[in-house]
Formats: sequence, structure tokens, C-alpha cells
Amino acid sequence: MRLKDKVALITGAGSGIGYQTALRLARAGASIVAVDINEEGGLQCVADIGQRGGSATYVQADVALAADCEKMIAAAESTYGKLDVLFNNAGISHADDDDAINTTETVWDQTMAVNVKGVFLGCKYGIPALQRAGGGSIINTASFVAVLGAATPQLAYTASKGAVLAMTRELAVIHAQENIRVNALCPGPLRTELLMKYLDTEEKKRRRLVHIPMGRFGEASEIADAVLFLASEESSFVTGSTFLVDGGITAAYVTPE
Ligand code: NAD
Repeated sequence: MRLKDKVALITGAGSGIGYQTALRLARAGASIVAVDINEEGGLQCVADIGQRGGSATYVQADVALAADCEKMIAAAESTYGKLDVLFNNAGISHADDDDAINTTETVWDQTMAVNVKGVFLGCKYGIPALQRAGGGSIINTASFVAVLGAATPQLAYTASKGAVLAMTRELAVIHAQENIRVNALCPGPLRTELLMKYLDTEEKKRRRLVHIPMGRFGEASEIADAVLFLASEESSFVTGSTFLVDGGITAAYVTPE
């Protein structure tokens, strides 16, 4: 098993990428600390892992709050004795996020609090735990929008993911000689709740799909497989990367008819 005897903490484990990754890493042998602000989703994830014979515990936390992040890391160490893998994945995409003229300060601040400060706080309390464990792997969820602009604007979201990407690179360099690897996972458009609630008509979906060479949205489970690689020793020489899992969207200028 690729993650035998490893302990992995996953934020946003109650839905989408986080949920599927929790199942995937548990199947690979890891004990899972499933963190989410949404108790129902988090408990469902833990129950699902338990039914499949894995080990998981739920911690309710808001990643935008320092005390909650300190608590979730402490829970990993007190429950399983250590932390090896930290997946800072929780993120929001605000319904009123727009261009510079129309995005309110409130929307900007809320987005930055979860998407950027949440990753910072996860690292602030998680890195000392990884140091105590003798090293480990951090995966921060950015997005393909960290490297591509869109005419369907979500300015705060895009800026927040750019910040995650830059923060990840610097963390990777700082901790490179401590046996701690830090990578930015950049998913392309996925068929999860976060995106589909906006693309609620066939026309809106088609407008997006035309930019994806593969001609389909990705699945959260396909992102989970990439996280497993970044979490495991198979990626032992990979750090500071912009790890794109995007169906070719960032490679394309003109897509197939
Ligand atoms: P999702 O909405 O299905 O799941 C996100 C989870 O995070 C939810 O369970 C939610 O309750 C939790 N969460 C939200 N705010 C939180 C907080 N403050 N503290 C703790 N938990 C919180 O979304 P998803 O598609 O699985 O997205 C996961 C990550 O992937 C996000 O960072 C998102 O920005 C990123 N991403 C998604 C896509 C996509 O197309 N879906 C593409 C690129 C990047």
C-alpha cells in the first residue's frame, strides 16, 4: 500500500475533491483526518471510509480561523500520533465574485480569508507537525485559473489561487532541505458542486467545454489520483511544482472541433 502507516489531513473533505481524495488515500493505507466546516459532509466521508475498512476521524474546523487550524493539527497528532500529509484543499467560489468594478470588498475579503489565509494557517500549524514527523508532503489546491485569465470573471477567486501558487513555491524552497515537499495542485474545470452550480444550463456548459481539448469536465476522483501521487514517495523529487491536472486546457490555443 502506497501510504501504509501514513497520516493525512484533508481540508474540505466533506465534498468534491477533498471527499474523493480522502477515500483514495484511505484505500492506499493512510489514516485520514477529515476536516470540513460542514459537519454532515465530513461525517459522511468518515463513515464512507469506515464502511470500506479504512480509518478516519472528523474534525469540524473553519480554515480561515487560526484556533480551528491549530485544533485540527493537534487532533491529527493526538488521534494518530503524527502527521505526514497535509492537503490544504478547502476553498470557496463566491456567487457574487465578478470583475474589479462589481466585486465588493466583502466578497474579496471572504474569498481571501478561506482560499489564501486558510492555506497559510494550515501551513503555519501543520509544518511544525511535519517537522516533528521527520518530513512529509503538503499539497495546496490552487487552480488552472492561477495561470489563465477568463472573460467570465471571478477576480477574487482568480487572485486567491494565484496567491496559493506563489505561496506554495516559496514554502517549497524554504523547507526543501527538511524532507518537506510542497506542491500546488491545479485542477482544470471539474464536474463538482463548486463549478456546476454556476454552469447550470447546457449553453453555459458548452461555452466552457469548447476550451477543453478533451471535451469534458474532469472528475474529482481524477484529481484524487494526482494527490495520491504527490502525497506518496513516488513523487520524492517533485517540489514547488505547478501540478496541472486540467484535460489539456492550459496547453490549448484552438481545440478539436
Ligand atoms: P466543493 O465545494 O465540492 O468542496 C469544498 C469543501 O470545502 C466543502 O465541503 C466545504 O464545506 C468546504 N469548505 C468551504 N469553506 C470552508 C472553510 N472555511 N473551512 C473548512 N472547510 C470549508 O469544491 P471542490 O470542487 O471539491 O473544490 C475543492 C478545491 O478545489 C477548492 O479549493 C477549489 O477552489 C478547487 N478547485 C475546484 C475546481 C472545480 O472545477 N471544481 C477547479 C479548480 C480548483
